[in-house]
Amino acid sequence: MGVGALYVHVPFCRSKCAYCDFSSWATRAGDPLMGAYAASAARMVSQAGSMGLLRGCRTGYLGGGTPTYLGADVLGGLVAAMAPHCPSELTVEANPDSLTDDVLDALLGAGATRVSVGVQSTNAAELAALGRVHGPAQALDALSRGVAAGLDVSCDLMCATPLQTDESWERSLADVLSCGIGHVSVYPLQIEDDTALGRRYADGDPAFNAEDVQAARMEAAERALGAAGLARYEVASYARPGKACAHNRAYWTGVPYLGIGTGASGMLCAGDYAILRTAAPRLPKAPDGTWRVRLTVTSGRRAFAEAAGMGDLSYDLEFLTEQQAAAEDLMLGMRLAKGVGEGLLAHARRALGAQAVDAAVAEARREGLAQERPDGGLAPTRRGWLLGNELYGIMWDLAPGTVLEASA
Ligand code: SF4
Repeated sequence: MGVGALYVHVPFCRSKCAYCDFSSWATRAGDPLMGAYAASAARMVSQAGSMGLLRGCRTGYLGGGTPTYLGADVLGGLVAAMAPHCPSELTVEANPDSLTDDVLDALLGAGATRVSVGVQSTNAAELAALGRVHGPAQALDALSRGVAAGLDVSCDLMCATPLQTDESWERSLADVLSCGIGHVSVYPLQIEDDTALGRRYADGDPAFNAEDVQAARMEAAERALGAAGLARYEVASYARPGKACAHNRAYWTGVPYLGIGTGASGMLCAGDYAILRTAAPRLPKAPDGTWRVRLTVTSGRRAFAEAAGMGDLSYDLEFLTEQQAAAEDLMLGMRLAKGVGEGLLAHARRALGAQAVDAAVAEARREGLAQERPDGGLAPTRRGWLLGNELYGIMWDLAPGTVLEASA
């Protein structure tokens, strides 16, 4: 037992981007709350380690928010607390304006292996429309310096955004590839209600974000990145050989993970949840038949900073049965290029009934959303990726009953 992956969330940013509904707050530079929060997160990582929850952990991800906004000293301390538990890979999310040379030195010194830089675009007008605080040159410089420092470097790009054209999208892709990075993630802009863009476009869906634009830009990305030697291994992620993000893959392959921080989510097996309860007695006993527990930390950033340990936090919880977890594993696996293997399908047939699973597989194939793998597994088609929600829905509909929820 013990999780295979560790996620720590830093909910601080220099300012709030126009599209962002993540758990993050614009925070004054040097606010002592950031240091207190990071120290609390480091304490909880150590607590999880001493409880045995991290003994099988291989990968870590320090996300946000903007972890690099913590500054070199505070960030270095938190990364150093995570590193002993992340022997395979430790990624830190960065924004170009705060990935300074001293922050890069701190990351390397503390044991980070990978940095994921939020670039989004290399067009100045598009960046301004998204409310990003960095410019194109600063973004490309951050990628190049990360590569030169010897870190594995990933970059996030966003498509179907205001002012973006087919040509500017191709330019952004070419620009970031010119920096020699090994990994790129691409996402269509999602216009969420409680954001600046959501309020601006409350009256209707803008043409720049239409579904066919999103699909065309995602296909253009696949062409450009593929031509440069980056293969698509997950619906949103491309990598050179050997540069896929192991932590990302863990999320889609049923690997349990612990989430620490405001808004952080985790997924534990029933045994590890019982261990966590020894430190957090306020957590309810898992209902009989629980196979998997999903947890989201609901404590705010101040409460998190002041917490003595994981037992002081509040959580939203979901308790999944073995059958629900099997359906969830099939759904999550459909995000990966390789899909799900014969072993996972066999487990799902045992848990959910062969007839039901085979009917779902047949429906996904009939709709052109998935295809049989030569080894008997099931992989998504390009259409399946474009219409992901339909494919995921077919798999999740296999889950019997209602997922039990609780808050504590
Ligand atoms: S930097 Fe990232 S987390 Fe922070 S406001 Fe912008 S999109 Fe949100």
